[in-house]
Amino acid sequence: MKKHNFNAGPSVLPRIAIENSAKAILDLNGIGMSLLEISHRSKDFQAIMDETVALFKELLEIPENYHVLFLGGGASLQFCMVPYNLFKTKAAYLETGVWAQKAIKEAKFFGNVEVVGSSADKNFTYIPKNFAIPKDADYFHITTNNTIYGSEIHTDLESPVPLVADMSSDILSRPIDVSKYALIYGGAQKNLGPAGVTFVILREDILGKTDRPIPTMLNYKTHIKEGSMFNTPPCFAIYTCLETLRWIKNLGGVQKMAEMNKHKAQLLYNTIDNSKMFVGTVEKDSRSLMNICFVMKEQYKDKEDAFMDFAKGKGMIGIKGHRSVGGFRASTYNALPLESVQAMVDCIHEFEIINS
Ligand SMILES: *Cc1c(COP(=O)(O)O)cnc(C)c1O
Repeated sequence: MKKHNFNAGPSVLPRIAIENSAKAILDLNGIGMSLLEISHRSKDFQAIMDETVALFKELLEIPENYHVLFLGGGASLQFCMVPYNLFKTKAAYLETGVWAQKAIKEAKFFGNVEVVGSSADKNFTYIPKNFAIPKDADYFHITTNNTIYGSEIHTDLESPVPLVADMSSDILSRPIDVSKYALIYGGAQKNLGPAGVTFVILREDILGKTDRPIPTMLNYKTHIKEGSMFNTPPCFAIYTCLETLRWIKNLGGVQKMAEMNKHKAQLLYNTIDNSKMFVGTVEKDSRSLMNICFVMKEQYKDKEDAFMDFAKGKGMIGIKGHRSVGGFRASTYNALPLESVQAMVDCIHEFEIINS
Protein backbone atom coordinates (compact mmCIF):
# COMPACT_ATOMS: atom_id res chain seq x y z
CA MET A 1 0.00 0.00 0.00
CA LYS A 2 1.18 3.51 -0.77
CA LYS A 3 2.20 5.39 2.38
CA HIS A 4 1.36 9.05 2.85
CA ASN A 5 3.97 10.53 5.17
CA PHE A 6 2.51 13.31 7.33
CA ASN A 7 5.22 13.03 10.00
CA ALA A 8 6.04 16.28 11.83
CA GLY A 9 9.80 15.69 11.93
CA PRO A 10 11.90 13.97 10.87
CA SER A 11 9.57 13.99 7.95
CA VAL A 12 9.02 13.41 4.26
CA LEU A 13 11.92 14.30 1.93
CA PRO A 14 11.99 14.49 -1.86
CA ARG A 15 12.37 10.92 -3.17
CA ILE A 16 15.16 12.03 -5.50
CA ALA A 17 17.12 13.48 -2.55
CA ILE A 18 16.91 10.13 -0.77
CA GLU A 19 17.89 8.15 -3.87
CA ASN A 20 20.87 10.39 -4.61
CA SER A 21 21.96 10.28 -0.96
CA ALA A 22 21.80 6.48 -1.08
CA LYS A 23 23.98 6.51 -4.20
CA ALA A 24 26.47 8.85 -2.52
CA ILE A 25 26.69 6.46 0.41
CA LEU A 26 27.74 3.68 -1.97
CA ASP A 27 30.01 5.78 -4.14
CA LEU A 28 30.28 9.56 -4.07
CA ASN A 29 30.37 10.97 -7.63
CA GLY A 30 32.31 7.93 -8.88
CA ILE A 31 35.35 8.53 -6.65
CA GLY A 32 35.28 4.92 -5.46
CA MET A 33 34.56 5.79 -1.83
CA SER A 34 31.47 6.38 0.23
CA LEU A 35 30.38 9.85 1.31
CA LEU A 36 30.57 8.34 4.81
CA GLU A 37 34.28 7.52 4.62
CA ILE A 38 35.87 10.66 3.20
CA SER A 39 37.53 13.40 5.18
CA HIS A 40 35.52 16.53 5.84
CA ARG A 41 38.75 18.32 4.85
CA SER A 42 38.83 16.64 1.43
CA LYS A 43 38.15 18.66 -1.69
CA ASP A 44 35.17 16.39 -2.41
CA PHE A 45 33.49 17.32 0.84
CA GLN A 46 34.54 20.97 0.63
CA ALA A 47 32.75 21.11 -2.73
CA ILE A 48 29.60 19.71 -1.10
CA MET A 49 29.74 22.27 1.72
CA ASP A 50 30.38 25.14 -0.71
CA GLU A 51 27.51 24.18 -3.00
CA THR A 52 25.12 23.70 -0.06
CA VAL A 53 25.92 27.16 1.31
CA ALA A 54 25.75 28.74 -2.17
CA LEU A 55 22.40 27.15 -3.05
CA PHE A 56 20.93 28.06 0.34
CA LYS A 57 22.00 31.67 -0.24
CA GLU A 58 20.68 31.66 -3.81
CA LEU A 59 17.27 30.15 -3.00
CA LEU A 60 16.61 32.45 -0.05
CA GLU A 61 18.27 35.47 -1.71
CA ILE A 62 20.46 35.92 1.34
CA PRO A 63 22.30 39.27 1.17
CA GLU A 64 26.10 39.47 0.93
CA ASN A 65 26.62 40.56 4.52
CA TYR A 66 25.13 37.37 5.97
CA HIS A 67 26.82 34.07 6.83
CA VAL A 68 25.32 30.61 6.50
CA LEU A 69 26.43 27.94 8.99
CA PHE A 70 25.68 24.24 9.24
CA LEU A 71 26.19 23.05 12.81
CA GLY A 72 25.30 20.25 15.20
CA GLY A 73 23.15 20.45 18.33
CA GLY A 74 19.73 21.02 16.80
CA ALA A 75 17.52 24.06 17.06
CA SER A 76 17.53 23.32 20.78
CA LEU A 77 21.19 24.28 21.11
CA GLN A 78 20.40 27.55 19.33
CA PHE A 79 17.96 28.35 22.16
CA CYS A 80 21.05 28.86 24.33
CA MET A 81 23.60 29.85 21.67
CA VAL A 82 21.53 32.87 20.63
CA PRO A 83 21.50 34.49 24.09
CA TYR A 84 25.10 33.41 24.74
CA ASN A 85 26.17 35.53 21.77
CA LEU A 86 23.57 38.32 21.71
CA PHE A 87 22.21 38.87 25.22
CA LYS A 88 23.53 41.89 27.11
CA THR A 89 20.85 43.15 29.48
CA LYS A 90 17.44 42.23 28.16
CA ALA A 91 15.77 40.21 25.41
CA ALA A 92 12.20 40.19 24.07
CA TYR A 93 10.40 36.95 23.13
CA LEU A 94 7.05 36.11 21.57
CA GLU A 95 5.48 33.10 23.28
CA THR A 96 3.62 31.13 20.63
CA GLY A 97 4.12 27.53 21.69
CA VAL A 98 6.27 24.88 23.31
CA TRP A 99 9.36 25.64 21.22
CA ALA A 100 9.11 29.34 21.99
CA GLN A 101 8.79 28.48 25.69
CA LYS A 102 11.90 26.34 25.51
CA ALA A 103 13.77 29.21 23.88
CA ILE A 104 12.53 31.59 26.61
CA LYS A 105 13.67 29.18 29.33
CA GLU A 106 17.24 29.19 28.00
CA ALA A 107 17.32 32.98 27.56
CA LYS A 108 16.33 33.39 31.22
CA PHE A 109 19.68 31.90 32.25
CA PHE A 110 21.22 35.13 30.93
CA GLY A 111 18.96 37.72 32.56
CA ASN A 112 15.79 39.67 32.01
CA VAL A 113 13.44 38.24 29.39
CA GLU A 114 10.39 40.25 28.43
CA VAL A 115 7.60 38.14 26.94
CA VAL A 116 5.94 40.79 24.77
CA GLY A 117 3.01 38.68 23.66
CA SER A 118 1.64 35.23 24.35
CA SER A 119 -1.14 32.98 23.12
CA ALA A 120 -0.80 30.62 26.09
CA ASP A 121 -4.27 31.75 27.27
CA LYS A 122 -5.91 29.83 24.40
CA ASN A 123 -3.51 26.89 24.12
CA PHE A 124 -1.50 28.69 21.40
CA THR A 125 -4.29 28.66 18.83
CA TYR A 126 -3.41 32.09 17.47
CA ILE A 127 -0.48 34.42 16.81
CA PRO A 128 -0.59 37.42 19.19
CA LYS A 129 -1.08 40.80 17.52
CA ASN A 130 -0.47 44.41 18.54
CA PHE A 131 2.40 43.67 20.87
CA ALA A 132 5.07 46.29 21.49
CA ILE A 133 8.72 45.38 21.03
CA PRO A 134 10.83 47.24 23.61
CA LYS A 135 13.44 49.44 21.93
CA ASP A 136 15.96 48.67 24.65
CA ALA A 137 15.91 44.90 24.06
CA ASP A 138 19.10 43.41 22.64
CA TYR A 139 17.01 41.32 20.26
CA PHE A 140 13.48 40.08 19.63
CA HIS A 141 12.92 36.34 19.20
CA ILE A 142 10.04 34.71 17.33
CA THR A 143 9.10 31.20 16.22
CA THR A 144 7.73 31.65 12.71
CA ASN A 145 5.99 28.29 12.54
CA ASN A 146 4.67 26.51 15.60
CA THR A 147 5.07 22.90 14.61
CA ILE A 148 3.08 21.47 17.50
CA TYR A 149 0.10 23.85 17.50
CA GLY A 150 -0.10 24.56 13.76
CA SER A 151 0.10 28.34 13.81
CA GLU A 152 2.40 30.47 11.66
CA ILE A 153 3.60 34.04 11.24
CA HIS A 154 3.16 34.54 7.50
CA THR A 155 4.96 37.84 7.05
CA ASP A 156 8.39 39.21 7.88
CA LEU A 157 7.82 41.32 11.00
CA GLU A 158 9.22 44.81 11.42
CA SER A 159 11.33 45.07 14.53
CA PRO A 160 13.16 48.07 16.00
CA VAL A 161 15.76 45.69 17.48
CA PRO A 162 17.60 42.75 15.83
CA LEU A 163 15.02 40.12 14.89
CA VAL A 164 15.89 36.47 15.61
CA ALA A 165 13.70 33.69 14.20
CA ASP A 166 13.40 29.97 14.79
CA MET A 167 12.34 28.79 11.31
CA SER A 168 12.84 25.08 11.93
CA SER A 169 9.59 24.05 10.34
CA ASP A 170 8.95 26.63 7.63
CA ILE A 171 12.35 27.49 6.21
CA LEU A 172 12.26 27.35 2.38
CA SER A 173 8.47 27.01 2.37
CA ARG A 174 8.06 30.55 1.04
CA PRO A 175 10.20 33.54 0.08
CA ILE A 176 11.37 35.62 3.02
CA ASP A 177 13.13 38.97 3.21
CA VAL A 178 16.28 37.88 5.04
CA SER A 179 17.37 41.50 5.46
CA LYS A 180 14.57 41.93 8.03
CA TYR A 181 16.27 39.37 10.29
CA ALA A 182 19.52 39.50 12.22
CA LEU A 183 19.62 35.74 12.72
CA ILE A 184 17.55 32.79 11.51
CA TYR A 185 18.07 29.22 12.68
CA GLY A 186 16.46 25.82 12.60
CA GLY A 187 16.88 22.08 12.73
CA ALA A 188 16.99 20.63 9.23
CA GLN A 189 14.74 17.68 9.91
CA LYS A 190 11.39 19.32 9.13
CA ASN A 191 11.65 20.91 5.73
CA LEU A 192 15.29 20.78 4.66
CA GLY A 193 16.95 17.43 5.28
CA PRO A 194 17.54 14.63 7.74
CA ALA A 195 18.12 14.98 11.48
CA GLY A 196 21.59 15.93 12.65
CA VAL A 197 22.26 19.34 11.13
CA THR A 198 21.17 22.83 12.12
CA PHE A 199 21.28 25.83 9.82
CA VAL A 200 22.08 29.35 11.02
CA ILE A 201 21.85 32.48 8.88
CA LEU A 202 23.31 35.54 10.58
CA ARG A 203 24.55 39.05 10.05
CA GLU A 204 28.03 39.37 11.44
CA ASP A 205 27.62 42.91 12.82
CA ILE A 206 25.30 41.64 15.58
CA LEU A 207 28.21 39.73 17.15
CA GLY A 208 30.85 40.95 19.59
CA LYS A 209 28.52 43.22 21.58
CA THR A 210 28.61 41.27 24.83
CA ASP A 211 31.79 41.04 26.88
CA ARG A 212 30.79 37.65 28.27
CA PRO A 213 33.41 34.96 27.58
CA ILE A 214 31.89 32.48 25.13
CA PRO A 215 33.07 28.84 24.98
CA THR A 216 34.65 28.17 21.59
CA MET A 217 32.01 25.77 20.28
CA LEU A 218 29.17 28.10 21.31
CA ASN A 219 30.70 31.15 19.68
CA TYR A 220 29.28 31.93 16.24
CA LYS A 221 32.55 33.64 15.34
CA THR A 222 34.36 30.29 15.60
CA HIS A 223 32.09 28.71 13.02
CA ILE A 224 32.07 31.72 10.72
CA LYS A 225 35.86 31.81 10.73
CA GLU A 226 36.17 28.07 10.03
CA GLY A 227 33.36 27.83 7.47
CA SER A 228 31.33 25.46 9.67
CA MET A 229 34.37 23.17 9.90
CA PHE A 230 35.90 24.07 13.26
CA ASN A 231 35.02 20.51 14.19
CA THR A 232 33.70 17.66 12.05
CA PRO A 233 30.37 18.77 10.60
CA PRO A 234 27.45 16.35 10.09
CA CYS A 235 28.67 15.47 6.58
CA PHE A 236 25.96 13.06 5.54
CA ALA A 237 23.08 15.21 6.76
CA ILE A 238 24.54 18.20 4.91
CA TYR A 239 24.72 16.17 1.71
CA THR A 240 21.03 15.28 1.89
CA CYS A 241 20.24 18.97 2.50
CA LEU A 242 22.15 19.74 -0.69
CA GLU A 243 20.10 17.21 -2.63
CA THR A 244 16.89 18.76 -1.22
CA LEU A 245 18.07 22.24 -2.21
CA ARG A 246 18.80 21.00 -5.74
CA TRP A 247 15.29 19.59 -5.91
CA ILE A 248 13.78 22.91 -4.79
CA LYS A 249 15.83 24.79 -7.38
CA ASN A 250 14.84 22.39 -10.18
CA LEU A 251 11.17 22.83 -9.34
CA GLY A 252 11.38 26.62 -9.50
CA GLY A 253 12.60 27.80 -6.10
CA VAL A 254 10.85 28.95 -2.93
CA GLN A 255 8.20 30.93 -4.83
CA LYS A 256 7.08 27.69 -6.41
CA MET A 257 7.21 25.92 -3.02
CA ALA A 258 4.95 28.65 -1.61
CA GLU A 259 2.39 28.15 -4.39
CA MET A 260 2.38 24.39 -3.93
CA ASN A 261 2.17 24.68 -0.15
CA LYS A 262 -0.72 27.14 -0.33
CA HIS A 263 -2.61 24.88 -2.68
CA LYS A 264 -2.07 21.79 -0.51
CA ALA A 265 -3.01 23.57 2.73
CA GLN A 266 -6.13 25.14 1.19
CA LEU A 267 -7.33 21.77 -0.01
CA LEU A 268 -7.10 20.26 3.46
CA TYR A 269 -8.33 23.32 5.40
CA ASN A 270 -11.34 23.62 3.05
CA THR A 271 -12.19 20.00 3.67
CA ILE A 272 -11.96 20.46 7.44
CA ASP A 273 -13.99 23.70 7.34
CA ASN A 274 -16.76 22.05 5.33
CA SER A 275 -16.76 18.93 7.43
CA LYS A 276 -19.55 17.73 9.68
CA MET A 277 -17.26 15.88 12.06
CA PHE A 278 -13.92 17.74 12.11
CA VAL A 279 -12.87 21.23 13.11
CA GLY A 280 -9.58 23.09 12.83
CA THR A 281 -7.91 24.12 16.09
CA VAL A 282 -6.21 27.35 15.01
CA GLU A 283 -7.77 30.76 14.23
CA LYS A 284 -8.01 31.17 10.49
CA ASP A 285 -5.56 34.01 9.98
CA SER A 286 -2.92 32.25 12.10
CA ARG A 287 -3.11 28.87 10.41
CA SER A 288 0.12 27.16 9.43
CA LEU A 289 0.68 25.98 5.88
CA MET A 290 3.08 23.35 7.21
CA ASN A 291 1.29 21.69 10.14
CA ILE A 292 -2.47 21.38 9.89
CA CYS A 293 -4.10 20.60 13.23
CA PHE A 294 -7.68 19.45 13.60
CA VAL A 295 -9.85 17.59 16.07
CA MET A 296 -13.28 16.00 16.08
CA LYS A 297 -16.23 18.17 17.04
CA GLU A 298 -17.50 17.63 20.57
CA GLN A 299 -20.37 15.30 19.58
CA TYR A 300 -18.02 13.03 17.61
CA LYS A 301 -15.10 12.96 20.07
CA ASP A 302 -15.59 9.24 20.71
CA LYS A 303 -14.78 8.56 17.04
CA GLU A 304 -11.20 9.83 17.12
CA ASP A 305 -9.66 6.39 17.61
CA ALA A 306 -11.84 4.93 14.89
CA PHE A 307 -10.71 7.63 12.48
CA MET A 308 -7.08 7.00 13.39
CA ASP A 309 -7.48 3.31 12.55
CA PHE A 310 -9.39 4.09 9.37
CA ALA A 311 -6.71 6.54 8.22
CA LYS A 312 -3.95 4.06 9.03
CA GLY A 313 -5.74 1.53 6.88
CA LYS A 314 -5.56 4.01 4.00
CA GLY A 315 -1.79 4.49 4.39
CA MET A 316 -1.80 7.74 6.40
CA ILE A 317 1.33 7.97 8.56
CA GLY A 318 2.11 10.32 11.43
CA ILE A 319 -1.25 12.08 11.75
CA LYS A 320 -1.66 11.76 15.52
CA GLY A 321 -1.79 15.23 17.04
CA HIS A 322 0.86 16.20 19.59
CA ARG A 323 -0.23 15.27 23.12
CA SER A 324 -0.64 18.95 24.03
CA VAL A 325 -3.26 19.46 21.29
CA GLY A 326 -4.80 16.00 20.76
CA GLY A 327 -6.72 15.05 17.64
CA PHE A 328 -4.79 15.08 14.41
CA ARG A 329 -1.92 16.89 12.77
CA ALA A 330 -1.08 16.57 9.11
CA SER A 331 2.33 18.01 8.32
CA THR A 332 2.41 19.19 4.73
CA TYR A 333 6.05 20.13 4.19
CA ASN A 334 7.53 20.99 0.78
CA ALA A 335 8.22 17.38 -0.14
CA LEU A 336 4.74 16.08 0.68
CA PRO A 337 3.07 15.41 -2.69
CA LEU A 338 -0.33 16.87 -3.51
CA GLU A 339 -1.62 13.33 -4.01
CA SER A 340 -1.01 12.61 -0.32
CA VAL A 341 -3.13 15.60 0.66
CA GLN A 342 -5.80 14.44 -1.77
CA ALA A 343 -5.66 10.97 -0.19
CA MET A 344 -6.17 12.55 3.24
CA VAL A 345 -9.13 14.56 1.93
CA ASP A 346 -10.68 11.40 0.46
CA CYS A 347 -10.07 9.61 3.73
CA ILE A 348 -11.97 12.29 5.68
CA HIS A 349 -14.86 12.25 3.18
CA GLU A 350 -15.15 8.47 3.22
CA PHE A 351 -15.04 8.31 7.00
CA GLU A 352 -17.80 10.89 7.25
CA ILE A 353 -20.03 9.02 4.83
CA ILE A 354 -19.64 5.80 6.81
CA ASN A 355 -20.02 7.39 10.25
CA SER A 356 -22.62 10.12 10.09
C1 LIG B 1 11.51 20.61 15.94
C2 LIG B 1 11.62 22.01 16.37
C3 LIG B 1 12.63 22.42 17.26
C4 LIG B 1 13.60 21.46 17.90
O1 LIG B 1 14.54 21.06 16.99
P1 LIG B 1 15.77 20.10 17.41
O2 LIG B 1 16.57 20.11 16.17
O3 LIG B 1 15.16 18.78 17.74
O4 LIG B 1 16.45 20.71 18.57
C5 LIG B 1 12.69 23.76 17.59
N1 LIG B 1 11.84 24.65 17.07
C6 LIG B 1 10.85 24.29 16.23
C7 LIG B 1 9.92 25.32 15.68
C8 LIG B 1 10.72 22.95 15.85
O5 LIG B 1 9.75 22.59 15.00
